[in-house]
Amino acid sequence: MRPLLWTPTYRRVVRTAFATVPHYRELWALHGRTDPTLVPGRTGAHAGATPAEVAVERLPDLVPLRGGPAEANPYRGLETAPLGHPVPLAAARDHPGAGIIRDDLLGVLAVRADCGRWHLCHRDVYARATPLGLAFTLLRQRSPMLVDIAPGTQGAVGACPIHGKPVVEL
Ligand SMILES: [Zn+2]
Repeated sequence: MRPLLWTPTYRRVVRTAFATVPHYRELWALHGRTDPTLVPGRTGAHAGATPAEVAVERLPDLVPLRGGPAEANPYRGLETAPLGHPVPLAAARDHPGAGIIRDDLLGVLAVRADCGRWHLCHRDVYARATPLGLAFTLLRQRSPMLVDIAPGTQGAVGACPIHGKPVVEL
């Protein structure tokens, strides 16, 4: 996927989640969300993000109505990631030798490129800053749908000045 299509793809995933997945339907209809705002005037608690621990508890509610698996895949993305020592998001800043950020719920989120920055796996993962910290969306996983899931680590999303790809700054 070209970086240009990154945000439109994310917005499409959000709309699909709102239309077909009980957890997001309930959360965003009640409270709303930002970017995109689905219910006019409601911008939502935590800008619409879900804490990772809540998502883990509610995995069956993250399955689309038409059905699908309800298990997280902690190794998602690992088969295509370059070799590197994996760390959770919360530990990435303190491990300069680490090469992969991997989450038990979301799988591989980012890899360290030769520029030294954490490049998001942008074909599969969208990220944005929310009041709960960085929130991640799996763009290709249909079930359980993981949209704006926040593991609880603050950070920012930017563009690598060398490679022009999305990076996370922790
Ligand atoms: Zn780079």
